[in-house]
Amino acid sequence: MGDVTTAVNLPVPSVPRVRKDPSEIRQPAGEKKVLLAAPRGYCAGVDRAVIAVERALEHYGAPIYVRKEIVHNRHVVDTLAERGAIFVDETSEVPEGARVVFSAHGVSPQVHAEAAERSLDTIDATCPLVTKVHREAIRFARDGYSILLVGHAGHEEVEGTMGEAPDHITLIQNPEEARTLDIPESDKMVWISQTTLSVDETMETVNILKERFPQLIAPPSDDICYATQNRQVAVKKIAPDADLVIVVGSANSSNSVRLVEVALEHGAKAAYRVDFAREVDEEWFNDVATVGVTSGASVPETLVEDVIKLLAEYGYGEVDEVRTAEEDLMFSLPRELRKDLKAAGQKTSNKRDGADRQHEIV
Ligand code: SF4
Repeated sequence: MGDVTTAVNLPVPSVPRVRKDPSEIRQPAGEKKVLLAAPRGYCAGVDRAVIAVERALEHYGAPIYVRKEIVHNRHVVDTLAERGAIFVDETSEVPEGARVVFSAHGVSPQVHAEAAERSLDTIDATCPLVTKVHREAIRFARDGYSILLVGHAGHEEVEGTMGEAPDHITLIQNPEEARTLDIPESDKMVWISQTTLSVDETMETVNILKERFPQLIAPPSDDICYATQNRQVAVKKIAPDADLVIVVGSANSSNSVRLVEVALEHGAKAAYRVDFAREVDEEWFNDVATVGVTSGASVPETLVEDVIKLLAEYGYGEVDEVRTAEEDLMFSLPRELRKDLKAAGQKTSNKRDGADRQHEIV
């Protein structure tokens, strides 16, 4: 299988690099091709959050404040900033009475309270699948459970979920912590998780927890969302045949970083994450016949197309899409925005022109 390598954080070249001529790359023995994983890219929660900011800018006019990155993608954030969105880290940075959008990752009740204190008009673009986990945390805490949240410290989603019941939730980041962490035992224990984790690693963590606490129960349904799971299944399918996997996604995108790990765990000889095609290092192509390509749930397809174009320049012109699931889920725009759009006689649908998804869920 050869050495496994990864580079999760690549510096963005500050000046355009002179690319190597394709003739300088060591050619593989086999035919060159691309396996393009599907599903990839935008999920329903990201699509809704980005459209919410776009529609807010159109309807109310700039500036529109956005707390944290609306979704974890540099290109999306930069594009919205150019159109008049102002990204802030904290609600306290938003002028009193202004309009602020909460990101897809969700916020804690404390953030809602701060916004109310400052008389902010809020548009809550929290993904409904994150809200589902918040509701679970509230319900289990109310019913007296000790809640073990599997997730990563510092991630905005985890901060938001923990804020719903801080006295009842213990964060478990990985199997090692599941083994060693001093967790208060209780008769009633439940695990829940961040929505964008590796399915396999989460189950490993949970199995260790179950050995320690046989009374531990599972959440009523999967917390790792459909989009995260589908993108991992697709990359697992292409990884065994890939000499190299390129994951398009940002360094702070949990599900994108997981895709690099999953590709390596399932047989890719090398896997790298890039924000943009310009970060692809042509040295990676030495002796490479098959390149797998995928993208995280916050990545617009145009960034994948750029990578495919670059690959074609290096002889990887044949592209086979490998699809493991169909997705047609769509979430309605945030309630506050729909109300204002409706009052102004504007369309409230979340459907982009030409979108082929059918199921809009309110
Ligand atoms: S990755 Fe999943 S939880 Fe996160 S925004 Fe997308 S659908 Fe929602």
